[in-house]
Amino acid sequence: MKNISVIGAGTMGNGIAHVFAMNNYNVNLIDISQDSLDKALATIEKNLNRMVAKEKISESDKDAALSKITTYTEMKDGVVSADLVVEAATENVDLKLKIFKQMDDLAPSDAILATNTSSISITKIASVTGRPDKVIGMHFMNPVPIMRLVEVIRGYSTSDEVCDTIMKLSSDIGKVPTEVNDYPGFIANRILMPMINEAIYSLYEGVAGVDEIDTVMKLGMAHPMGPLQLADFIGLDVCLSIMNVLYDGFGNPKYAPCPLLVNMVTAGELGRKSGAGFYDYSGGGKEWILSQKFKK
Ligand code: NAD
Repeated sequence: MKNISVIGAGTMGNGIAHVFAMNNYNVNLIDISQDSLDKALATIEKNLNRMVAKEKISESDKDAALSKITTYTEMKDGVVSADLVVEAATENVDLKLKIFKQMDDLAPSDAILATNTSSISITKIASVTGRPDKVIGMHFMNPVPIMRLVEVIRGYSTSDEVCDTIMKLSSDIGKVPTEVNDYPGFIANRILMPMINEAIYSLYEGVAGVDEIDTVMKLGMAHPMGPLQLADFIGLDVCLSIMNVLYDGFGNPKYAPCPLLVNMVTAGELGRKSGAGFYDYSGGGKEWILSQKFKK
C-alpha cells in the first residue's frame, strides 16, 4: 500500500492524514469544504511543529510529511489511485451511505474502503457497495497522532485477507490494532457509553453530586478523567446519539439514555463545545468549574 485517501478533514481526518504522512504514505485529503482543508493543513503543521520542538522529529521529517499530503475538494480526483480510502466525514448514516456508494464507483476495484465511524454499522455501510468483503471499520481515537488504539471492526462480510491487511497496516503506522466484530457500539463505545450513562443516572437519582462521582472514578479507578467530565469533552449530543444506537440495536432497556442526558441535549447544553454541561467552560476551553445548576 502506498496511496491512502482520507475523506473528511475535520478533527479525525486531519489526525489520520498526519499519521499516514508521517509514515511515508502518499495522502490525498478530501473534503467538500476548502475551509476545512485549509484548517486541517494548518493543524497538521502546528502539531508537527510541536513534535519538532519536543525533538521527537527533525525539521526535515516535518517537511517530508507535509509534502506527502495533497488536498482535494472533489472525491473523483482524490480516490482514483487509492489503495485504501479511510472515510472520516460527519457522523450521519445517510451521508456515509452516499459517500460509500460514490467511493465504490470511483476508487479502484481492488481498493479497501474503511470507515472511522463511532457507531454506524459497518455491515450496513458495506451493503451499499459492490465490494462488502473489502469494507472495514478503522476506528481511530482522538487525538489520532497520540492515541495508540485502532479498533478494527469486521463487518459481516469482511474477508480475512482484508482484515489481516488492515491489522498489519495499523501496526506499521505505530498503532495497536484490536479486532472486534460489528455489533452496536463495537467494544469501545459499548462499554464506555453505558458507564457514562450510569454516572448521569447516579447524579439524576441524587446518589451523589458531579464532583463526587468524578472523584470516585478518578481516584478510585485511576481514570484520568471522571465520566461526567469525559461526557462534556466528547459532547453530550454524541453520547446521547450513541446510547440511542445501543438502545435501538439491542432493544434492551438497560441502554435507555438517562432522562437528564436527554434534557441537557434538548436544552443545548452539550458540554465543552457549547460552553456548558456538567461543568461550565465560559472561562475558556481549558478551564472549567462546576456548572451553577449542579452546585448543591
Ligand atoms: P468533524 O465534524 O470534525 O469533521 C467532519 C468533516 O467531514 C468536516 O470537515 C466536513 O466538512 C466533512 N464532510 C462532510 N461531508 C463530506 C463529504 N460528503 N465529503 C467529504 N467531506 C465531508 O467530525 P470528526 O469529529 O472528525 O468525526 C469524523 C468521524 O470520526 C465520525 O464518523 C465520528 O463518529 C468519528 N470519530 C470521531 C471521534 C472524535 O472524538 N471526534 C472519535 C472517533 C471517531
